[in-house]
Amino acid sequence: MDLGITGRRAAVAAASRGLGFAVATALAQEGVAVAICGRDQSRLDEAARSIGGDVATIVCDVATTGGASAFIEQAQAALGVIDILVANGGGPPGGDFSSTPLDAYGPAVERSMLSAIAMCHGVVPAMREQRWGRILAITSLAVRQPLENLILSNSARTGLTGFLKTLANEVAADGITVNSLQPGLHETDRIRELYGERLPERAAAVPSRTIGRPEDFGRIAAMLCSEHAKFLTGAGVHVDGGEYGGLL
Ligand code: NAD
Repeated sequence: MDLGITGRRAAVAAASRGLGFAVATALAQEGVAVAICGRDQSRLDEAARSIGGDVATIVCDVATTGGASAFIEQAQAALGVIDILVANGGGPPGGDFSSTPLDAYGPAVERSMLSAIAMCHGVVPAMREQRWGRILAITSLAVRQPLENLILSNSARTGLTGFLKTLANEVAADGITVNSLQPGLHETDRIRELYGERLPERAAAVPSRTIGRPEDFGRIAAMLCSEHAKFLTGAGVHVDGGEYGGLL
């Protein structure tokens, strides 16, 4: 199916590896010009080679609002108006209430909530002017179902989800959709680090009895950014092999 986004321009944050990389790859396969960021130029170069075509690579740390805004500014300088924003970033450190000091919450909120908001500030005015835009944030299943030993992620990402839903309503009449994808377990560096040798046991607890492939996640993201998804906004879609236990 032609997604109708050939020639569009996308900024995909934290995309040298993992889910961001998979989303950038899927968008590029649809003929979208992509700008990707990461913290290391050589990893970005490797990612750009693998994606193929004309990929703008930008060294930025999106754990801060300053880094997130700088990414968008440089992506706009490279590509022009950003039609598609994929707000993503590395997750905050693990830990529970007892092991997490109070002063860890501020940086986690900046990393997993404010940084995405800063990216939205960077792209929404021009999207509004051209009356077309797609904003897609990568959050986590944790916003539906808090995950064990991830109190910072569980807390900060729910705030971002509230922001996204509010923004979605405000810009819907301008032709801009705002959605999030909530990944369950996918096979990336982050998950290998978090679960280590316990990964097979953790995967066995997912109804699908397997964990997700980043490339499949990327294709779902591209669909949400498609022309055809214009009526799909304000949604948080869990991509989790059935792990979320609720009805809605
Ligand atoms: P990852 O750690 O495997 O990859 C993240 C990519 O982003 C890497 O290329 C890394 O270099 C880059 N990156 C990390 N921190 C960055 C920063 N501060 N600035 C710029 N680039 C940065 O992560 P992932 O598994 O691809 O996950 C993406 C997001 O989805 C994370 O926020 C993660 O917590 C969340 N998530 C992932 C899963 C999963 O199963 N993989 C599940 C739930 C939530």
